[in-house]
Amino acid sequence: MTTSFYQRYKRFTQLAAVPFISALIVSCGTSGTSSKDFSAGDQASSSKSYASLDWTLPETAEAAEFMANCQQRFEQADTQFKLLQQSEFSSDLDFLKGMNGLEKTIHNTLAPASLKANVHPNKEVRESAEKCEQNFISLISDIGLSGSLFKRMSRVDQAVLDAKAKRYVGESLREFRRSGVNLDKASQQTLKTLVDEINAIGQDFQKNIREDVRSIVVKNEAELAGLPQDFIDSHRDEASGDVIVTTNYPDYFPVIQYAKSDALRLRVYNEFKNRGYPANEEVLKNLLKKRHQVAELLGYSSYAQYAMETLMIGSPENAQAFITEIADVSADRSEQEYQQLLKRLQKIQPDATEVKDWQKTYIAELVKKEQYKVDSQKVRQYFRYDRVQKGIFELTEKMFRVQIRPMQGDLWHESVTAWEIVERGEVLGQFYLDMHPREGKYQHAAAFTIQDGILDEQLPIKALVCNFPEGDAFMEHGQVETFLHEFGHLLHGIFGGNQPWLAQSGIATERDFVEAPSQMLEEWVWDFTTLKSFAINDKGQSIPSSLIKKLQASRDFGQGLFTRHQMFYAALSLNYYMQDPDTIDMNTMAAELQNKYSNFDFVDGTHFQYSFGHLDGYSAVYYTYMWSLVIADDMFSEFEKNGLLNTKIAKRYRREVLEPGGSLDAADLVENFLGRPYTFDAFARRFK
Ligand SMILES: [Zn+2]
Repeated sequence: MTTSFYQRYKRFTQLAAVPFISALIVSCGTSGTSSKDFSAGDQASSSKSYASLDWTLPETAEAAEFMANCQQRFEQADTQFKLLQQSEFSSDLDFLKGMNGLEKTIHNTLAPASLKANVHPNKEVRESAEKCEQNFISLISDIGLSGSLFKRMSRVDQAVLDAKAKRYVGESLREFRRSGVNLDKASQQTLKTLVDEINAIGQDFQKNIREDVRSIVVKNEAELAGLPQDFIDSHRDEASGDVIVTTNYPDYFPVIQYAKSDALRLRVYNEFKNRGYPANEEVLKNLLKKRHQVAELLGYSSYAQYAMETLMIGSPENAQAFITEIADVSADRSEQEYQQLLKRLQKIQPDATEVKDWQKTYIAELVKKEQYKVDSQKVRQYFRYDRVQKGIFELTEKMFRVQIRPMQGDLWHESVTAWEIVERGEVLGQFYLDMHPREGKYQHAAAFTIQDGILDEQLPIKALVCNFPEGDAFMEHGQVETFLHEFGHLLHGIFGGNQPWLAQSGIATERDFVEAPSQMLEEWVWDFTTLKSFAINDKGQSIPSSLIKKLQASRDFGQGLFTRHQMFYAALSLNYYMQDPDTIDMNTMAAELQNKYSNFDFVDGTHFQYSFGHLDGYSAVYYTYMWSLVIADDMFSEFEKNGLLNTKIAKRYRREVLEPGGSLDAADLVENFLGRPYTFDAFARRFK
């Protein structure tokens, strides 16, 4: 039940591609992926070797086998937990090692279970894997509330420990406290009830969004002008002959982007922005209230304060300052872009004095097409899947002076491949690539952990799960960027996977920092020197630099508008969670914040917040993506100055930022790499 310890054990199983697409098609990604972006995990053990075979479960594995294995792990963890509570340890260090061992058993089970739940070809195995995860929840809750473990941990003499062990103790004590260990029994029961309720309310919130699919009947076919004919044909209702579009993404985005009819776009927009309303009106209020109660019970003034305590940002006040700063930095640029859109709109509606929210995507699409047109067919020919994979491997080898070589592994599907990263003959870690779509598989792109590395005990093992075209098929440029992004998480997990404490291994860093290394690596797919070595078409020609310049210009347009609108989302998420929900008028606040931060005013009669799924998954911390981007840009500036393939800088980056994993504060990692604290300067250059 308790939130805190569970997150620790189940941290970051998957780091999904952030649901950000191009600038104006602001996909705040609602629901679905939200809770998965930052969930958890890691896998099996054995001494300095590989995942125990039963956990990599080949294609033929049975669900029963899986559950038996899970049960065995559960009993092992339970025994370890009991021993830890009962035993006298000869030294503090022995006790800490015992805790580390317990975490290892749990993590090594949850991580592969989470992977299997998402990728195993056998549906029953997928379901068993989910059940396996569920089985651990109450155990983890008991650990977080164990007064005897907490007392034992409090007695550890930190003065004699090294810095990493000291940090481990400090963070563990904090996790106990955040789990409610200090509360009296009655309050613990209240907390447990609240957390269960919050889980159920969150599920309701998401379900109400998911199930509120609205249909818009288009009787006048002229309204559909601008939409592709195959889209129109496939949406025709045979009986009536009318065309029916829904509020599902594959309908909504084409209409809002391509339909010439302002009236149609407005109708679809209104329905889309009212999904979840009124059903979620009470549900969201309730979610905020229960979380506020959790915060108060644990001694915090707001849920935002509770959620931010363990993050780089530290406090709601800092988050507000950050949002203000980003809004300021992007203000001029967004205003210029807004004027560009308005001018273009006035060619269609000469009396227009403002661009409305339901017009922005359509108009931006026109501007992009007219001014920055990139023929995606022309781009794709340079990105054959097999060449891209090879190119990304070679880039890694070149930058970090390592080798990537195939290995034998227990593959869960015939299309999966297994690899290891080797440096001067020593294996640093292993990974699996599950890169192509198939029935029943996870549908986004994410880096999973199979096993977190522990110094002298177990190697880090990761898996990339994506849905790219196969073999000699071509990828979109954006897919190449996603590949590199997820590969960034993989490298972070492997290079950082040599820590003595599991809780500090690999990507176990602050949640608002964890995207930064991957966001930084995305920059390489915009670099000509990098691309020319593997972006090669079937005639053997490298991608021309003029085409890359066009791609960049098209990417840059809309950055200001996008950023300001994102700050509206961030401010909404923060403000809903930083005060007593009873004092909030949800709709008034949403309207005020949209008008304050976005260039596009709130549209009366809409209720966006009730379909903003991230209010559940991210709670108060929607700012995180932009925050880590600021830091990614700052770190990237070091490569920009010295060369993207500069091995010296790459080495320093690996040593200072990736290798320490979670053994230092992220702010210190960044400062150690840059030689100074991070600043907004590099990020601000996006808006010049
Ligand atoms: Zn990511």
